Amino acid sequence: MKKYSDMSKEELLTLKAQLDKEYADIKAKGLALDMSRGKPSADQLDLSMGLMNVLSSDSDLKCETGVDCRNYGVIDGIPEAKRLLGEMSEVDPDHIIIYGNSSLNVMFDSIARSMTQGVMGNTPWCKLDKVKFLCPVPGYDRHFKITEFFGIEMINVPMTPQGPDMDMVEKLVSEDASIKGIWCVPKYSNPQGYTYSAETVERFAHLKPAAPDFRIYWDNAYSIHHLYDDNQDFLVEILEACAKAGNPDLVYKFTSTSKVSFPGSGIAAVAASKANLEDFRSYMQIQTIGHDKLNQLRHVKFFKNIDGLHEHMRKHAAILRPKFEMVLNTLDRELGGLGIGEWTKPHGGYFISFDSMEGCAKAIVAKAKEAGVVLTGAGATYPYGKDPKDSNIRIAPSFPTPEDLGKAAEVFVLCVKLTSVEKLLATVR
Ligand code: PMP
Repeated sequence: MKKYSDMSKEELLTLKAQLDKEYADIKAKGLALDMSRGKPSADQLDLSMGLMNVLSSDSDLKCETGVDCRNYGVIDGIPEAKRLLGEMSEVDPDHIIIYGNSSLNVMFDSIARSMTQGVMGNTPWCKLDKVKFLCPVPGYDRHFKITEFFGIEMINVPMTPQGPDMDMVEKLVSEDASIKGIWCVPKYSNPQGYTYSAETVERFAHLKPAAPDFRIYWDNAYSIHHLYDDNQDFLVEILEACAKAGNPDLVYKFTSTSKVSFPGSGIAAVAASKANLEDFRSYMQIQTIGHDKLNQLRHVKFFKNIDGLHEHMRKHAAILRPKFEMVLNTLDRELGGLGIGEWTKPHGGYFISFDSMEGCAKAIVAKAKEAGVVLTGAGATYPYGKDPKDSNIRIAPSFPTPEDLGKAAEVFVLCVKLTSVEKLLATVR
């Protein structure tokens, strides 16, 4: 396999003519496929249909402390839901608050509360001249949208397979008191599928931020979302690591059952120190009279405990694994050795991160769209939608059927090849 960069102009022109023809043929098929968002497929959603039947009109709808879940009350979650989400988050139920249907919503609220009320008695961020957040990149677009919405300045921190560049994180947070937080997806990260190493977690736990109200936004959205039984990543539990390091209040840990049961109809939770949770509760008490306890109850009845959750996630993996492998095999087969792209090979989560040659991502996404395949917008994985190298593309294999995914992957590799050839031809004489 000859690298594209080693090809002569003539070779590139011949290749381009051939790729142009393939592209025209594919376009003529009039495809309409979507590899853009990390949504479970319909057959994954079918796995949780039992949730519809665990509660019925003759069910006992009281939680274990006897409270009627049909009514108001129990603002921070029924005990059995705290236990279930506690097991999922690897923390004691005393350190859990159960929320509504979305963890992203809780993250938004946490920033809103910090803006208007301040963090644990500190000056509200809205009264400060400057508030900044560290953003490991590439990362999750919706995190970046939240901080952008509140006018928080975002600073890119490069990701490595072990997690964010911790030399940079330590230096910045210890020197600059206007840095108030960092977005982290520590396990099977969005979009790379990386899991932070034990050393990275320890370094996070030992951070010495200049700002007393600096918090790590630890979004553990993919904590139990393994693709393989025998090849799983492990993440050190950060709440305990922070407590041991004498930094108990440093982290907010978010989780949800969105990609376990039904996205948009799952349960979200926060795990944090008791002092942080008091801060959360003071806001929540004004905000709501309580979240959906019937949903909490049906999740507990359906999953029962962590073993039930793991068993369920194995069924998700059986559907997701062949899809990931199909995309990865296509990338290996079609692009391996050509020197025009690199990609991650995750053991879990929902995404594959692809890096094209510099300056090609936007063109690849546009070409794919023209051929009927929607990809996540180029740049979306960076704050302000600005990928400085215009090279990262997030691939989401979960939603399409295997047949559609096969076609979409073929379109993708073709668009990568064609864009790369065009780029190289623009630079050779
Ligand atoms: N965090 C990450 C990293 C995600 O990928 C997603 C879903 N795409 C979410 C949060 C959203 O979770 P929820 O449905 O609980 O708001």
